[in-house]
Formats: sequence, structure tokens, C-alpha cells
Amino acid sequence: MKKLIIAIDGPSGAGKGTIARTIAATLGYRHIDTGAMYRAVGWKADAEGITLDDESAVAALAERAAVIVEGGVVSIDGHDVTRAIRTPEIDKVAATVARLPRVREVLVSRQRSIGEAGGVVMEGRDIGSVVFPEADVKIYLDASAAERARRRANDTQHTGGQAGAAAVAASIAARDQADSTRSASPLTIAHGATYIDTTELPIEQVVEAVMTIVRQRSS
Ligand code: C5P
Repeated sequence: MKKLIIAIDGPSGAGKGTIARTIAATLGYRHIDTGAMYRAVGWKADAEGITLDDESAVAALAERAAVIVEGGVVSIDGHDVTRAIRTPEIDKVAATVARLPRVREVLVSRQRSIGEAGGVVMEGRDIGSVVFPEADVKIYLDASAAERARRRANDTQHTGGQAGAAAVAASIAARDQADSTRSASPLTIAHGATYIDTTELPIEQVVEAVMTIVRQRSS
């Protein structure tokens, strides 16, 4: 069977991680969380005291860093940062480094080499629009802001002393704004993508909707 490239984009809390992981497990594909790459680079820049708007310095760091984002573990240069990158601070740091075009260039090129042979479910913000505009399957997952905030607040992977639902909602809104208005690869519904509003859908139903498209494309 043809090994597909499956792109899943959307804002935070739309369900990308859960859906991408499940689809990858069902098909025996690799699951690549590209947001974790931006987070890991942001974490390391922060740890090294690099000013986050110093584009050359952050891009050089991204270039030399070994970032692994597979199998539920995220590491950068051998440091396991799986939990350390899921904090409110790194939410902001990642969104800041993701605005830098030269950092994006480095990470997009890595993402293309990871995914080009197919057999991959890649999730992010620009996978169907920039990384793989020719992806076999393109999905855009969305949900209402209130539902996304609720999911994020219940996300046990995400730690760091959030000050309740209002703070989570405010942080999600700020990140939505930053991700969709930046000039480098803003969050957008890619041409040819299937839009799925997951606000009121159980996970199994979203998985089934995606699998139906996958079956059509692989036959
Ligand atoms: O998906 P996640 O919330 O982990 O992504 C962290 C940040 O990385 C996002 O706020 C976004 O700015 C950035 N990102 C991106 N392009 C991607 C994936 C994530 O700009 N493909």
C-alpha cells in the first residue's frame, strides 16, 4: 500500500496531538509533532541565554541542535525535555522563535527530510500549506476557543502552575493571535484541506472522519 504523507494542522487544543498519534498508530506510521521542535529550540535558546529575537543566533542553534520528536519523547542534544517544554513559559518562547523566518527554514527543511518518504503523520501549523503542500491528506482541525481552553486546562502533559481557566483561555487567545498574524507562515487552512470542527465530536468520530479520507487516498 502507498505510504502517505498526512498533514494535520490547526490551533492549540484542537486535538491535533491525540488524532495524529491515533492515526499514526492505526496505520503503523511515524508521528511527528513539529510544535515540539519549535518548543525544544526555544527551550535550548532560553537555557543558553540567547536573546529570542536574535534571529541569527537562534537559527544557528536550531541548525546545530539534534532534535528528536518521536515515540512520545522529545530531546534536544541528548537532553530529555519531554516535560520541560510543556509549560506556560515555553508556550510563549516557542511562539516567539516560530516567528523567525530563518529558524522556520531550518526546521521546515528537517521536517521535509523526515517526511518525504511517506508513512508519516505530521502535525503543526503550516504542514499542509508550507512543509508539504502536496501532502496526500490534509486536515485542518479546529474547535471553539472555550473548548480548546478547557482541553488545555485538563492536559496533564502541560504543567507549570496555570492560574485557572481564565488564564489558560487568555494564553491560548494570545497564541492564536500570534500564530495567525505573524508574517512567516501564519496558521492558515491549507488549499485542499478538509476542515473538521472537533468542538462537539468524540475522538473516535474525528479519527473515523480522517481514516475515511486516508482510505480514499490510499486506494
Ligand atoms: O503545537 P504546539 O502548541 O506545541 O506549538 C508550539 C508553537 O510552535 C506554536 O505556538 C506555534 O507558534 C509554533 N509552531 C509553528 N509551526 C508548526 C508547529 C508549531 O509555528 N508547524
